[in-house]
Amino acid sequence: MESVRFAINFDKENLSGMKILMVDDTPSNLDILGHILKQVGLNVSVAPNGTIALKIINGDKPDLVLLDIMMPDISGYDVCRKLKENDDTKDIPVIFITAMAQTEDLVEGFEVGGVDYVVKPFQEQEVLARIGSQLSLRKIAYEKEELIRKLDSLSRIDPLTKLSNRRDILEKMEYEQAKYERFGKDFSIILGDIDYFKKINDQLGHDVGDCVLKEVADILKSSIRKVDFAARWGGEEFLVVLTETNLSGAARVAEKIKNTIEKQKYEFDKNPAQVTMSFGVACHVGKEGKIDELIKTADKLLYKAKEEGRNQVKTM
Ligand code: GH3
Ligand code: MG
Ligand code: MG
Repeated sequence: MESVRFAINFDKENLSGMKILMVDDTPSNLDILGHILKQVGLNVSVAPNGTIALKIINGDKPDLVLLDIMMPDISGYDVCRKLKENDDTKDIPVIFITAMAQTEDLVEGFEVGGVDYVVKPFQEQEVLARIGSQLSLRKIAYEKEELIRKLDSLSRIDPLTKLSNRRDILEKMEYEQAKYERFGKDFSIILGDIDYFKKINDQLGHDVGDCVLKEVADILKSSIRKVDFAARWGGEEFLVVLTETNLSGAARVAEKIKNTIEKQKYEFDKNPAQVTMSFGVACHVGKEGKIDELIKTADKLLYKAKEEGRNQVKTM
């Protein structure tokens, strides 16, 4: 019966299951409010003081904190300050629940980062409305974060081959270069280009060309370790980053890829196709020669492999 009344101010369907932490040193306060919040489907936990509250929050982040101000160990203001100082917890909304309703008390609550306050003794409908609106905002923020994550990951993937794109692999190379400078960890790159790809397109069609690109991408992926990266560098050019791998190790990987691509049977609509690829292999070139130099070196070697007859690997 009661829940019908609550529904007026609280979007139960959308917000049920969200986590609230109530912090108050007077257990009876928590009982009444906790009961109301559970009835609207919220996942409620309680803490009797600031120290325990901070421990709980750092272990399992709630979606909202209801925070008493006057508590024996750390005041609610200080708990809130601590939450707002920490990048991991600064976005958790804090609503103060207080018997101190002087303007300066409320102002201080906002100054330390609280988003709202409720004055004790509180009115059920009011508390629910305030909590509901903050939780709705929190939910929108989560959805936005998720969307940004998805967009970011899409902006790093080549849609045809599903490999990393140029932008993504450039960032990964910068990271490997930083690892080299900091810890002296070797890394190498392989730049590969499909031989006479234009002919494949011209003779068998652009769709077959696309299929070849996908097959080559699959071979690259299955030829490297989980810690390495393969990317579509451009049209029919691919770039592989081999972490903690020296030049001779990288040359062996390139040879293996070259042989797998050459031996693979390609057949499209019953038409057999022959695919080969040429490669340039380079190892990081020291502190001064950054990523650009490394790529330039691999590119020159790739050009040499083409000049000397294609379907081969040239190493630094
Ligand atoms: P080489 O052995 O010297 O590398 O010769 P090539 O024919 O492979 O090189 P070229 O640069 O002359 O031609 C590359 C072709 O790749 C031209 C371009 O239309 C084609 N290409 C680029 N991107 C795609 C794509 O996404 N799909 C298809 N099917 N073709 C593409
Ligand atoms: Mg080519
Ligand atoms: Mg090319």
